[in-house]
Amino acid sequence: MDRDAKIFVAGHRGLVGSAIERNLLARGFRQIVTRTRSQLDLRDGLAVLEFFRQEQFDYVFLAAAKVGGIVANRDMPGEFIRDNLFIQMSVIDAAYRTSVKKLLFLGSSCIYPKLAPQPLKEEYLLTGELEPTNEAYAVAKIAGIKMCQAYNRQFGTTFISAMPTNLYGPRDNFDPQTSHVLPALIRKMHEAKENGSPFVEVWGSGRPRREFLHADDLADACAHLMEVYEEGDIVNIGTGEDLTIRELAELVRAAVGYAGELRFNPDLPDGTPRKLLDCSKMERLGWQAKIPLQAGIASTYRWFLKNIAAKS
Ligand code: GDP
Repeated sequence: MDRDAKIFVAGHRGLVGSAIERNLLARGFRQIVTRTRSQLDLRDGLAVLEFFRQEQFDYVFLAAAKVGGIVANRDMPGEFIRDNLFIQMSVIDAAYRTSVKKLLFLGSSCIYPKLAPQPLKEEYLLTGELEPTNEAYAVAKIAGIKMCQAYNRQFGTTFISAMPTNLYGPRDNFDPQTSHVLPALIRKMHEAKENGSPFVEVWGSGRPRREFLHADDLADACAHLMEVYEEGDIVNIGTGEDLTIRELAELVRAAVGYAGELRFNPDLPDGTPRKLLDCSKMERLGWQAKIPLQAGIASTYRWFLKNIAAKS
């Protein structure tokens, strides 16, 4: 990729988009274009097409999405399916119509069937029932993958679908109600430590297993795919290692320095029992995750202290 290529990062204020922008700058790319939500509503197909016609991008990273944790997904399925379908339709179609060289669409490991064999291989897509708590989100993301594949087949585009495992890092959503588990635990334990609370509530049984990838690792993988991958298909991106939610909560507790008790609440959903990605395809493409979970949690906690705790 030419360092003067014109690149659009959709969703640059989020966890993933901001990490992709940092990674591209570090790789020496000089023409990165971004738009805030108030400047451009990505759900508006006509506005997006006009923007793409004016800008004539070479490469597009589609990291804009409506995302949230297990309870947000359970309670707002209409918004999750609507916003994601509109954003994908607008951006993927505009990329084709304006002859973008390559697009990378970000999905999620929740697209795979709830009870698929582990680790999850790319070919398990659509081989079984989805996890009900995030079905609306997953169906939208599956539609995005199928749209990329269909455009590649009919129109000869190179639209890649990257499927990351559970993510964390700076600029994540730390709201205890709508966030994913790792930022929720950081915030809950930090506040419990500050307030001297004797316990922290952890949702579910603590038994589900999850894999966690730092957003900077994901961003590096996405930039790598854009540079080397020519086939335009699905590629999983993870670390290859998972742990239970209880083990994760212990790691967060150690990083935060909280001495209280973990109290599991079985009234809240566990979600899928296990979600570990098979990342052998990404390894064959010459990439592996580098940030160890403990170090990643420690640096994310430092980011939280500086940017969220200090301001609230
Ligand atoms: P998921 O991977 O789509 O299920 O997304 P989440 O990150 O929201 O949840 C992962 C697991 O962590 C589920 O089993 C949750 O029940 C559990 N969990 C424990 N405590 C929390 C919490 O405070 N917030 C969230 N979002 N999940 C939690």
